[in-house]
This record gives sequence, C-alpha cells and structure tokens, in this order.
Amino acid sequence: MKNNHNLLEVSNINSKDALYKKLIYNVEDFFLNDDSELSKEFEHLCICSGGTTSSCAKNGLITLDLRKNYNKIHLERETNIVTIGGGVIMGDLMNYLEKHNRSFPIGLSKLPGAGYILTGGISPLSRSYGLAIDNIESIKGFLGNGKFISLKKNQISRDKQLIWEAIKGAAPFFSIITEIGLRTIQSYPIQIIEGFINSNELSEIIKLSEGFPANISLQWIYAKKIYIYIVAEFKDDLEKEGIKENLLTLKKFSTLEQKFYGNLNEINFFAKELELFELNSKNHSEVISLLGEDLKNDVPIFIKYLNEIMDNKPNNSCYVASQQLGFKTKQLNHGSSFFVHRKSTWKPWIYASWKKNDLQEKEVVMDWMYKSWSKLKRFYPNIHLAQLHNHLNSHREELQLAFGNRIEELKTLKNICDPQSILPPL
Ligand SMILES: Cc1cc2nc3c(=O)[nH]c(=O)nc-3n(C[C@H](O)[C@H](O)[C@H](O)COP(=O)(O)OP(=O)(O)OC[C@H]3O[C@@H](n4cnc5c(N)ncnc54)[C@H](O)[C@@H]3O)c2cc1C
Repeated sequence: MKNNHNLLEVSNINSKDALYKKLIYNVEDFFLNDDSELSKEFEHLCICSGGTTSSCAKNGLITLDLRKNYNKIHLERETNIVTIGGGVIMGDLMNYLEKHNRSFPIGLSKLPGAGYILTGGISPLSRSYGLAIDNIESIKGFLGNGKFISLKKNQISRDKQLIWEAIKGAAPFFSIITEIGLRTIQSYPIQIIEGFINSNELSEIIKLSEGFPANISLQWIYAKKIYIYIVAEFKDDLEKEGIKENLLTLKKFSTLEQKFYGNLNEINFFAKELELFELNSKNHSEVISLLGEDLKNDVPIFIKYLNEIMDNKPNNSCYVASQQLGFKTKQLNHGSSFFVHRKSTWKPWIYASWKKNDLQEKEVVMDWMYKSWSKLKRFYPNIHLAQLHNHLNSHREELQLAFGNRIEELKTLKNICDPQSILPPL
C-alpha cells in the first residue's frame, strides 16, 4: 500500500484518496512485464484518462495513468481529423482546436478525458453534431488479451465489426485505447441564456425546450437553487433570427440573462462563482446517469417528484441535473454502436456526495441516490454508463439498462478480448 505522498493527482476525490497498489504509465510495459500482478480474484487494472471518476484509482489496485505518455494532439488540415492520445482531456483538445478555428462536441466540462468520448459523450451541441462516439474516425489500442488493435471507419473487416461497434460506448470493458481519430467541426458563435429560476419556471421551460430545433439545447441543475443554460449555436444571421423567435417566450423570465460567445470553448458551465452547490474537497461522491425520452404531459408530475427528491437531499453537495440530446443523436450516425438508447432526449444525472470518512452518512446518501433513481425511472428508464460502478451493488442492473439487448454480445466479446478480465468486470 502507498502512503499519502503517493496519491494520484486527479480531480475525482475518491480516486485522489485511493491507496493504489502501483502506478504505471505504459500499456506495453504492463503486458510485457505482466508476471501475474493481477492475480487475486476480483482485481483488475484501473485506467486513468481525465481522472474525473471514482474508477481511475482504487485501494490496492494498479492504475495505468495514460496522461503522461498518451497526451499528443494533432490536426490533419486536409481532412480536419484530429488525432488525440488516450490520456488527453477535453479542455486541451478544445484549446488546440481553437487555434485552427475548429471545435468538437465536448460535454459540460473541460476536465473529462477519453472516458468522455468512449462512453458516448453527450454535448450541448449533440443535437446538431451527434454524440462524441459518432465522430470517431479511427482508434488504436490494446485488447485486454494484450493484442494491439488499429481500426479505421469504412475499413473494418467483418471479423472486427463487433469490436468497432463496442468501442463506441463500451470500450472500457475490453480495451485500452491509446489513440483516437476524431472528426472536428467548424467553430461557430454560441448564444447562451442562463440564470436562476424556480421550479414552476423550470416546468414551463422544459415544456418549451421539447420543441427546440436541433441547434438549441437546455441543461439545468437543481442544487441549492435551480440554474439553467440554454445553448444555441448559430452559423449565420438567419439562424440567429430563428433562435430569437424560438426563445421569444423566455423574455418574461426576468432572471435570465443573454450572453454571446465566440465558440463553445469560451464557455464555462456551472462556474464556481455561481455557488450552485457546495464544492467540498472533504467529500466523496458517486454519480448515476439516466436516459429517457421527452416528458411531454408528464412535466408537472416530474417536477413534483424532483421537488420531493431535492427536499430529501441529505447533504448540501447533492444535486440532480439534466442535459438535452435528440435530433442527430437519434440517428445511427455511421453505423451501429453500443449506445443503444438512441431514442433518448434527456440525460439526467444524480450526484450523491458525503463527508469522506463518515460511513453512516455515506449509507444515507447512497440510499437517497438509489431512491431518487427509483423515482425517476418512470421517466428515465435507461442508463448512460458514463461512470463505471463495478464497486457498487447497482452495477449489474446498470449494465442491463445501459446495453439492453446487446449485453450478451458484450459479454461474449469480453470473454474473447479480455479472457482474464484484467479490465473492469461486466
Ligand atoms: C464535471 C463533469 C462534467 C461532465 N459532463 C458530461 C457531459 O456533458 N456529457 C457526458 O456525456 N458526460 C459528462 N461527464 C461524464 C464523463 O464524461 C464520464 O464520467 C467519463 O467517463 C469521464 O472520463 P475521464 O477520462 O475523465 O475519467 P477517468 O476516471 O479517467 O476514466 C473513467 C473510466 O473510463 C475508462 N477509460 C478512460 N479512458 C480510457 C481509455 N483511453 N481506454 C479505455 N478505457 C478508458 C476507464 O475504465 C476509466 O476508469 C462529466 C463528468 C464530469 C466530472
């Protein structure tokens, strides 16, 4: 076991505090020197890319930190395809692309790494540009059995077709991805409408948002108070006019402010200054992400449930938030993937947080998370497996609700590609 001087410098506090067994930086080294370091039952290798989840380091397990040796970014100007290492974080990708007037549909934070892309990747711009996985052009990496793989869209042989599809949404279970080729997008200005609202106003705005065109999306957070971001991208004056018309109704909400940005990279969602929730480095947390379709007539009952959930939150850091997808994400986009719930138009997530050494509070908070999940299942029956929970009792159910009728294919693939289960278990 490591002492406190050897903890992993990552943003997720659970992983930061983990007493990992060993830190390695090279995939090849792991496979070449593997003298059964992962011998014990239930042990597996932890992979760290952005380091934003509770899975990138765990007590007594080895972490492969991709940030040191897999951090290159290169844009090919002729094709506008950017190649990134498996340890690149979205903020660095965006800063690099901004210099070339290009962009990528990253999520609501610049902190996540390749895990964002490989688990689907839902952006405020996804309604126009699809999920992050829909923009993957190529990958390089290693299967759990140590075999090197290099795959390119449109050049996939039949025997690699299932691997290619599973990389898009389920890669962490059977592969270590060291390089990803991504289609980039032209950078356009963004209009944001943001501010604090009450739950009646949220109800009205959700109803309105379910009629938004592809270039507008709503994201909200219900923490101490409710805060919303309406994100609208416009390519020209005509689209700017369209946005104005679509958002005319919002004029009556006096707390909402309108802002303009040169591109997506300039925006910082959930800024610290807003004090939306208690940011406490002494807390540990878990997050569960759900998926479902438009609420339509269920908006009032959903808001009632949401108020009940928030009234019962056991710690000031706990919150529920949601982001909107749909339009382009409903299409298959260059072939099948393991993001199976393509009909989804909302991804809410429940953030559960407790004082890190308070096991009693942890139990209460996790109970709140599971009860809140149960309440929201009626509206959002599926799971977006953006966070791996193989250390939690809900893992099996989450797998089933994330991969639906493709779960058996994934298990078969894991048996072949990762027979010793060196990567997170299914
Ligand atoms: C502040 C914040 C905002 C977020 N916003 C969004 C959002 O808007 N949309 C959205 O879809 N998600 C969002 N997420 C969720 C986030 O994208 C996922 O949790 C993602 O898995 C984090 O990836 P990471 O590389 O940062 O995490 P890590 O903790 O480094 O990795 C998580 C796991 O992913 C797997 N993994 C990572 N990299 C690789 C690799 N190269 N090869 C194989 N497996 C790998 C490993 O199993 C690893 O343990 C957000 C998360 C945070 C913390």
